[in-house]
Order: sequence, then C-alpha cells, then structure tokens
Amino acid sequence: MIDLKNAVKTADGVTLNGFLLSSVVEQCSGCDRVRGFEEQQFCSSYPEPISKWTGGRCNFATHIKAQASTAATKMNPLKASKRAAKGR
Ligand code: SF4
Repeated sequence: MIDLKNAVKTADGVTLNGFLLSSVVEQCSGCDRVRGFEEQQFCSSYPEPISKWTGGRCNFATHIKAQASTAATKMNPLKASKRAAKGR
C-alpha cells in the first residue's frame, strides 16, 4: 500500500521514495484506492495505474465487481430435462 503522506512534489511530478507516481486514469473513477494529493489523484496500490488497465480491468479495482458467469453456472436445459425424466 502506497502511503502518500511521504510523497513529495518535485519539478518532474509527485514522487514517493524516488519513484515517480502517475495520476489515476479514467477507469479508476470510483475506486476506493484513489487518493488525493496536491490536487491530483493517485492510486494507493500502484504507482502507474494505467498499466493496471492495459491488459483488461485492474484486478485491485474496488468499484468493479468480478462478473460471475451465470451462463456457466446455469444447467443446460437439455440436461435438466433428462435428469428430471430420470427422477434425479
Ligand atoms: S486499484 Fe486499480 S482501479 Fe483502483 S485506483 Fe488503483 S489502478 Fe485504479
């Protein structure tokens, strides 16, 4: 977890322990890990939020729930009728 209390604003941007922090991206909007610092918003978990969204959704995002596939959990209707016919 990144603690922005130790962040420092420099000419290059906001740095923490020598690492340059990047602002959150549009997709981060609504995530509980967004923290404000010097009128900018950063992620409390990742220094470069955009990299968390390039390969799909961020796996730490708190505002987007993993979509459980209902199609996979539903029983095939043909199987269901066969089971019903066998009395199982
Ligand atoms: S955890 Fe992911 S979605 Fe949330 S602010 Fe950080 S990068 Fe953005």
